[in-house]
Amino acid sequence: MQIVHTIADLRAALAGRGRPAFVPTMGNLHEGHLSLVQQARQHGDVVVASIFVNRLQFLPHEDFYSYPRTFDADCAKLEAQGCDIVFAPKEKDLYPEPQTFKIQPDAQLADILEGHFRPGFFTGVCTVVMKLFQVVFATTGGGVAVFGKKDYQQLMVIRRMVQQFALPIEVIGCPTTRAGSGLALSSRNGYLSDEQRVQAMALSQALKALADAARQGGDLAELEARAMADLRAKGWEPDYLTVRQRSNLLTPADATTGDLVALGAARLGSTRLIDNLEF
Ligand code: AMP
Repeated sequence: MQIVHTIADLRAALAGRGRPAFVPTMGNLHEGHLSLVQQARQHGDVVVASIFVNRLQFLPHEDFYSYPRTFDADCAKLEAQGCDIVFAPKEKDLYPEPQTFKIQPDAQLADILEGHFRPGFFTGVCTVVMKLFQVVFATTGGGVAVFGKKDYQQLMVIRRMVQQFALPIEVIGCPTTRAGSGLALSSRNGYLSDEQRVQAMALSQALKALADAARQGGDLAELEARAMADLRAKGWEPDYLTVRQRSNLLTPADATTGDLVALGAARLGSTRLIDNLEF
């Protein structure tokens, strides 16, 4: 496995290797990330994973500085999964001058839910992903990019960006990898105490309960409010627990039928976690 840090070195490493399958990450890799690498291996000639904690997608009060950085362990895991190339730029490699040009995503999709609670988040995500896409795919004529459904709205925003800019990239969404308790694996789970880790399973349970209740019928806003109150009673501070249409993340007129997704974001102590469930 090759480890490269600069755009020029990555492009040189990719030359003549065929169609890349690319997995962007912020590192601190767990089984969820590795499942994306496995998918990537089935879809491209050369598997590239990036590790880059993207300052642009953090708000000033968020955890950019404390975000776990475990580069050596990450590389060992990637190598064991058969990853071919790790791209691990320093900030000065990816953003040699301040990145003053940004990608502004569709507000209808990106200013709701996560975008509402983390203003500018999807601008930061789209800007880094567009830049990484240019770095990986501009000299290879396109390829495949693999993202997790764990970040459901992010996957939708990326899909729409790819479509709107006619990028020659096939986006693949992978199912969420969970612990036995149902807790979605996340790098931020590392912030949880042992006690909180037990409490944390309540988030996926709340989404399941909300989805089940929505299918039964009744006023959706009331069901969502009740789901948030129940989660609050378990020690969480929810930002949202909501049922949306999978196609556009808007509120369905009727939740008893159709392709829906329950999405949630909530804080346990100072740790903010997100999860979702398609139903
Ligand atoms: P991150 O390093 O958190 O930015 O995530 C990098 C990629 O891994 C994103 O596409 C995430 O959606 C995906 N990912 C994170 N956690 C999981 C999980 N538990 N299962 C599947 N994919 C995940």
